[in-house]
Amino acid sequence: MLKGNPDIGVYTALPKGCELCRLGGKLVVYITGECGDSCYYCPVSKERFGKDVMYANEAKVETLRDFLYEAYRMNALGAGITGGDPILALNRVVRLIRMLKDEFSSDFHVHLYTSGRYVTYDVLRELQAVGLDEIRFHPVKDEYFKAIEKALNFNFDVGIEIPSIPHEKDYLEKVIKWGIEKGVKFININELELTERNFQPLNVQGYKVNHGLTGVKESAEVALSLLRKYETCNLALHYCSSVYKDVVETRTRFLRIIKYSSKPYEQGTPEGTVVRAIVRSNMDLSDYGEKIGEGVWAISPEFSNLFSEVLLVEEHPDQRRLRISEKLVYPKSE
Ligand code: SF4
Repeated sequence: MLKGNPDIGVYTALPKGCELCRLGGKLVVYITGECGDSCYYCPVSKERFGKDVMYANEAKVETLRDFLYEAYRMNALGAGITGGDPILALNRVVRLIRMLKDEFSSDFHVHLYTSGRYVTYDVLRELQAVGLDEIRFHPVKDEYFKAIEKALNFNFDVGIEIPSIPHEKDYLEKVIKWGIEKGVKFININELELTERNFQPLNVQGYKVNHGLTGVKESAEVALSLLRKYETCNLALHYCSSVYKDVVETRTRFLRIIKYSSKPYEQGTPEGTVVRAIVRSNMDLSDYGEKIGEGVWAISPEFSNLFSEVLLVEEHPDQRRLRISEKLVYPKSE
């Protein structure tokens, strides 16, 4: 039976990694931008793709230890390791999984994405030895399916995750049939997204946005028709929309960061942002907030009425502190 909401996601059952993501509990580990493939629809940004850079959630980081700090900030329940192709940074992946499991326990759920291009038995043995819980293949070429068959001999959950490209519906159906025959645990079908990097090749093929901010026209319909056709099959099928990432994944993760790491004077909002008041004063306001510059204090918005001029700012709670809005208010004026 299909569950869920077509605007967010529809599924017969959810992989464990997706269940934890829905709780906002998955740390997003971007371990390298390097990849041996070059899919025309690749959604990875220009700043990241092809570069050996690391990001913990939205923040660029330099060391593996930074991922632990970020996991603490959000009280993470697990991590999803992505790229590029993480297998090109296998040493880093193995060290990081070991660090995460040592720090947070073996129950800390780790899933990993790969095209399968570089997945050998040796790679799979190393991943199993450090306790990888789930592996998701994006087999962009026919020969990469061999890697999925190899992975099925190991003790982690094996799934396939592919975008729903409207003119490739027959191929998608072929992948579902292959997955059923081989006994993979799940197939995730993502709504195809138009991004800054892929909009030209997708526009050339006639694709335009018509769902949420980035969802490509007819991608959802194609995925949902396949889910309906195969809803009684023996593997977990899951369609994940582009809207999900903004409305559920990022927002719930931000709500966790607010719950576990926001400062006492910051006010959280249901949208997953924080609001603080910035005031100028030569007084010591450390009972109300903290000093952020010479004579400049960040305090709780609830004390705004004590000041004649206040800058109210709303920001994302993660380390980048992306500012969503700011408003100068004069609480004591008429
Ligand atoms: S395999 Fe993934 S990361 Fe690599 S080019 Fe294709 S979509 Fe992008």
